[in-house]
Amino acid sequence: MEPVAERKSRMKTSIFGATLACALTLLSLNGYAATSDSKPTDTKQSEQANKPKIVILATGGTIAGAQANPESYGYKSGEFSVNDLIKAVPGIDKLARIEGEQVANIGSQDMNNEVWLKLAKRVNEVSKRDDVAGIVITHGTDTMEETSYFIDLVSKTDKPIVFVGSMRPATAVSADGPGNLYNAVAVAADPKAKGHGAMVVLNDSIQDARYVTKTNTTNVETFRSLNRGPIGLIDTGKIKWFDITGEKPVHRSKFDIADRKDLPRVDIIYAHSNMSPDLINSAIKNGAKGLVIAGVGDGNMSQAAIDTLAKAAKNGIAVVRSTRVAEGLVLRNNEVNDDKEGFVASSEFTPPKARVLLQLALTQTKDPKKIQSLFNTG
Ligand code: ASP
Repeated sequence: MEPVAERKSRMKTSIFGATLACALTLLSLNGYAATSDSKPTDTKQSEQANKPKIVILATGGTIAGAQANPESYGYKSGEFSVNDLIKAVPGIDKLARIEGEQVANIGSQDMNNEVWLKLAKRVNEVSKRDDVAGIVITHGTDTMEETSYFIDLVSKTDKPIVFVGSMRPATAVSADGPGNLYNAVAVAADPKAKGHGAMVVLNDSIQDARYVTKTNTTNVETFRSLNRGPIGLIDTGKIKWFDITGEKPVHRSKFDIADRKDLPRVDIIYAHSNMSPDLINSAIKNGAKGLVIAGVGDGNMSQAAIDTLAKAAKNGIAVVRSTRVAEGLVLRNNEVNDDKEGFVASSEFTPPKARVLLQLALTQTKDPKKIQSLFNTG
């Protein structure tokens, strides 16, 4: 009998192959596939050589996910390789010359400091190459808002860095991955994308990595920048950039991770009614150097929690007040006296973003005033 692993792998290949064959048949039925085949080979080759080079760094996620069989609800992230993903996107070679590299192949719920640092170092190496115009990073959607912001803060380039994922696995009926990947490559290849820092492209929208958040557990319309809106829209590779403030976003990299082997531990504590200080004490006991509070309202919490955190702040633990509320700001000295307690207010940053920024801030300073100024400028 065929071993289970081999049967599964054959199933994946045949499901993927069937999806791909079906997509290609539909495309040729609609007359798309035939267009460039009539050109002489040398014309095609020189056209290809003039296209921008985009490097796809793959890390896994649902975009590379497979169901055990076509009817199943469940699936496993990170089953297909970067080359499988590229092959599943008809016409991607008309946008750019593509090079793929597998950095990891995990569900983004397992993303960690080690993969972040490995990915950041590859982004900085690849973006230095003269032949590379932009980078696309495939990633699970669950923690894309964290990794993309991390890369935004540590990358040393003004070349576009575009994160992309999907809400449905590659084997799903109506998988959204190929269309999203096509659009991500189009954004990375667009000269106007230069200087925007890291971006997230899914479901026809382009979001700034700094503000984007996942808002829906299953819907393909999940990534939104709640206080701001998208920085652009895209439809089958056609881009409309927005310039709402009249100010061109610039690349805002602030931190250098070239020599880092790890990052300081920062935990998020979720505030609620009847909140006790137990989780705060436990986080510190287990080695947290910083804490982000997903506070109620504008970053508030029980008096018992405030007292415990004030003591921790006096002992050198960095404390950032953010909010569990989806929209709005957390500013200093509102209901909580940050000056007196030694806290930092998160401004526009959600708890996951505040955690990323605090991890990096702690590589430079423990001073709450300096950390506050990093949060003020983001
Ligand atoms: N759990 C998956 C991941 O984040 C979900 C997804 O990619 O949509 O890797």
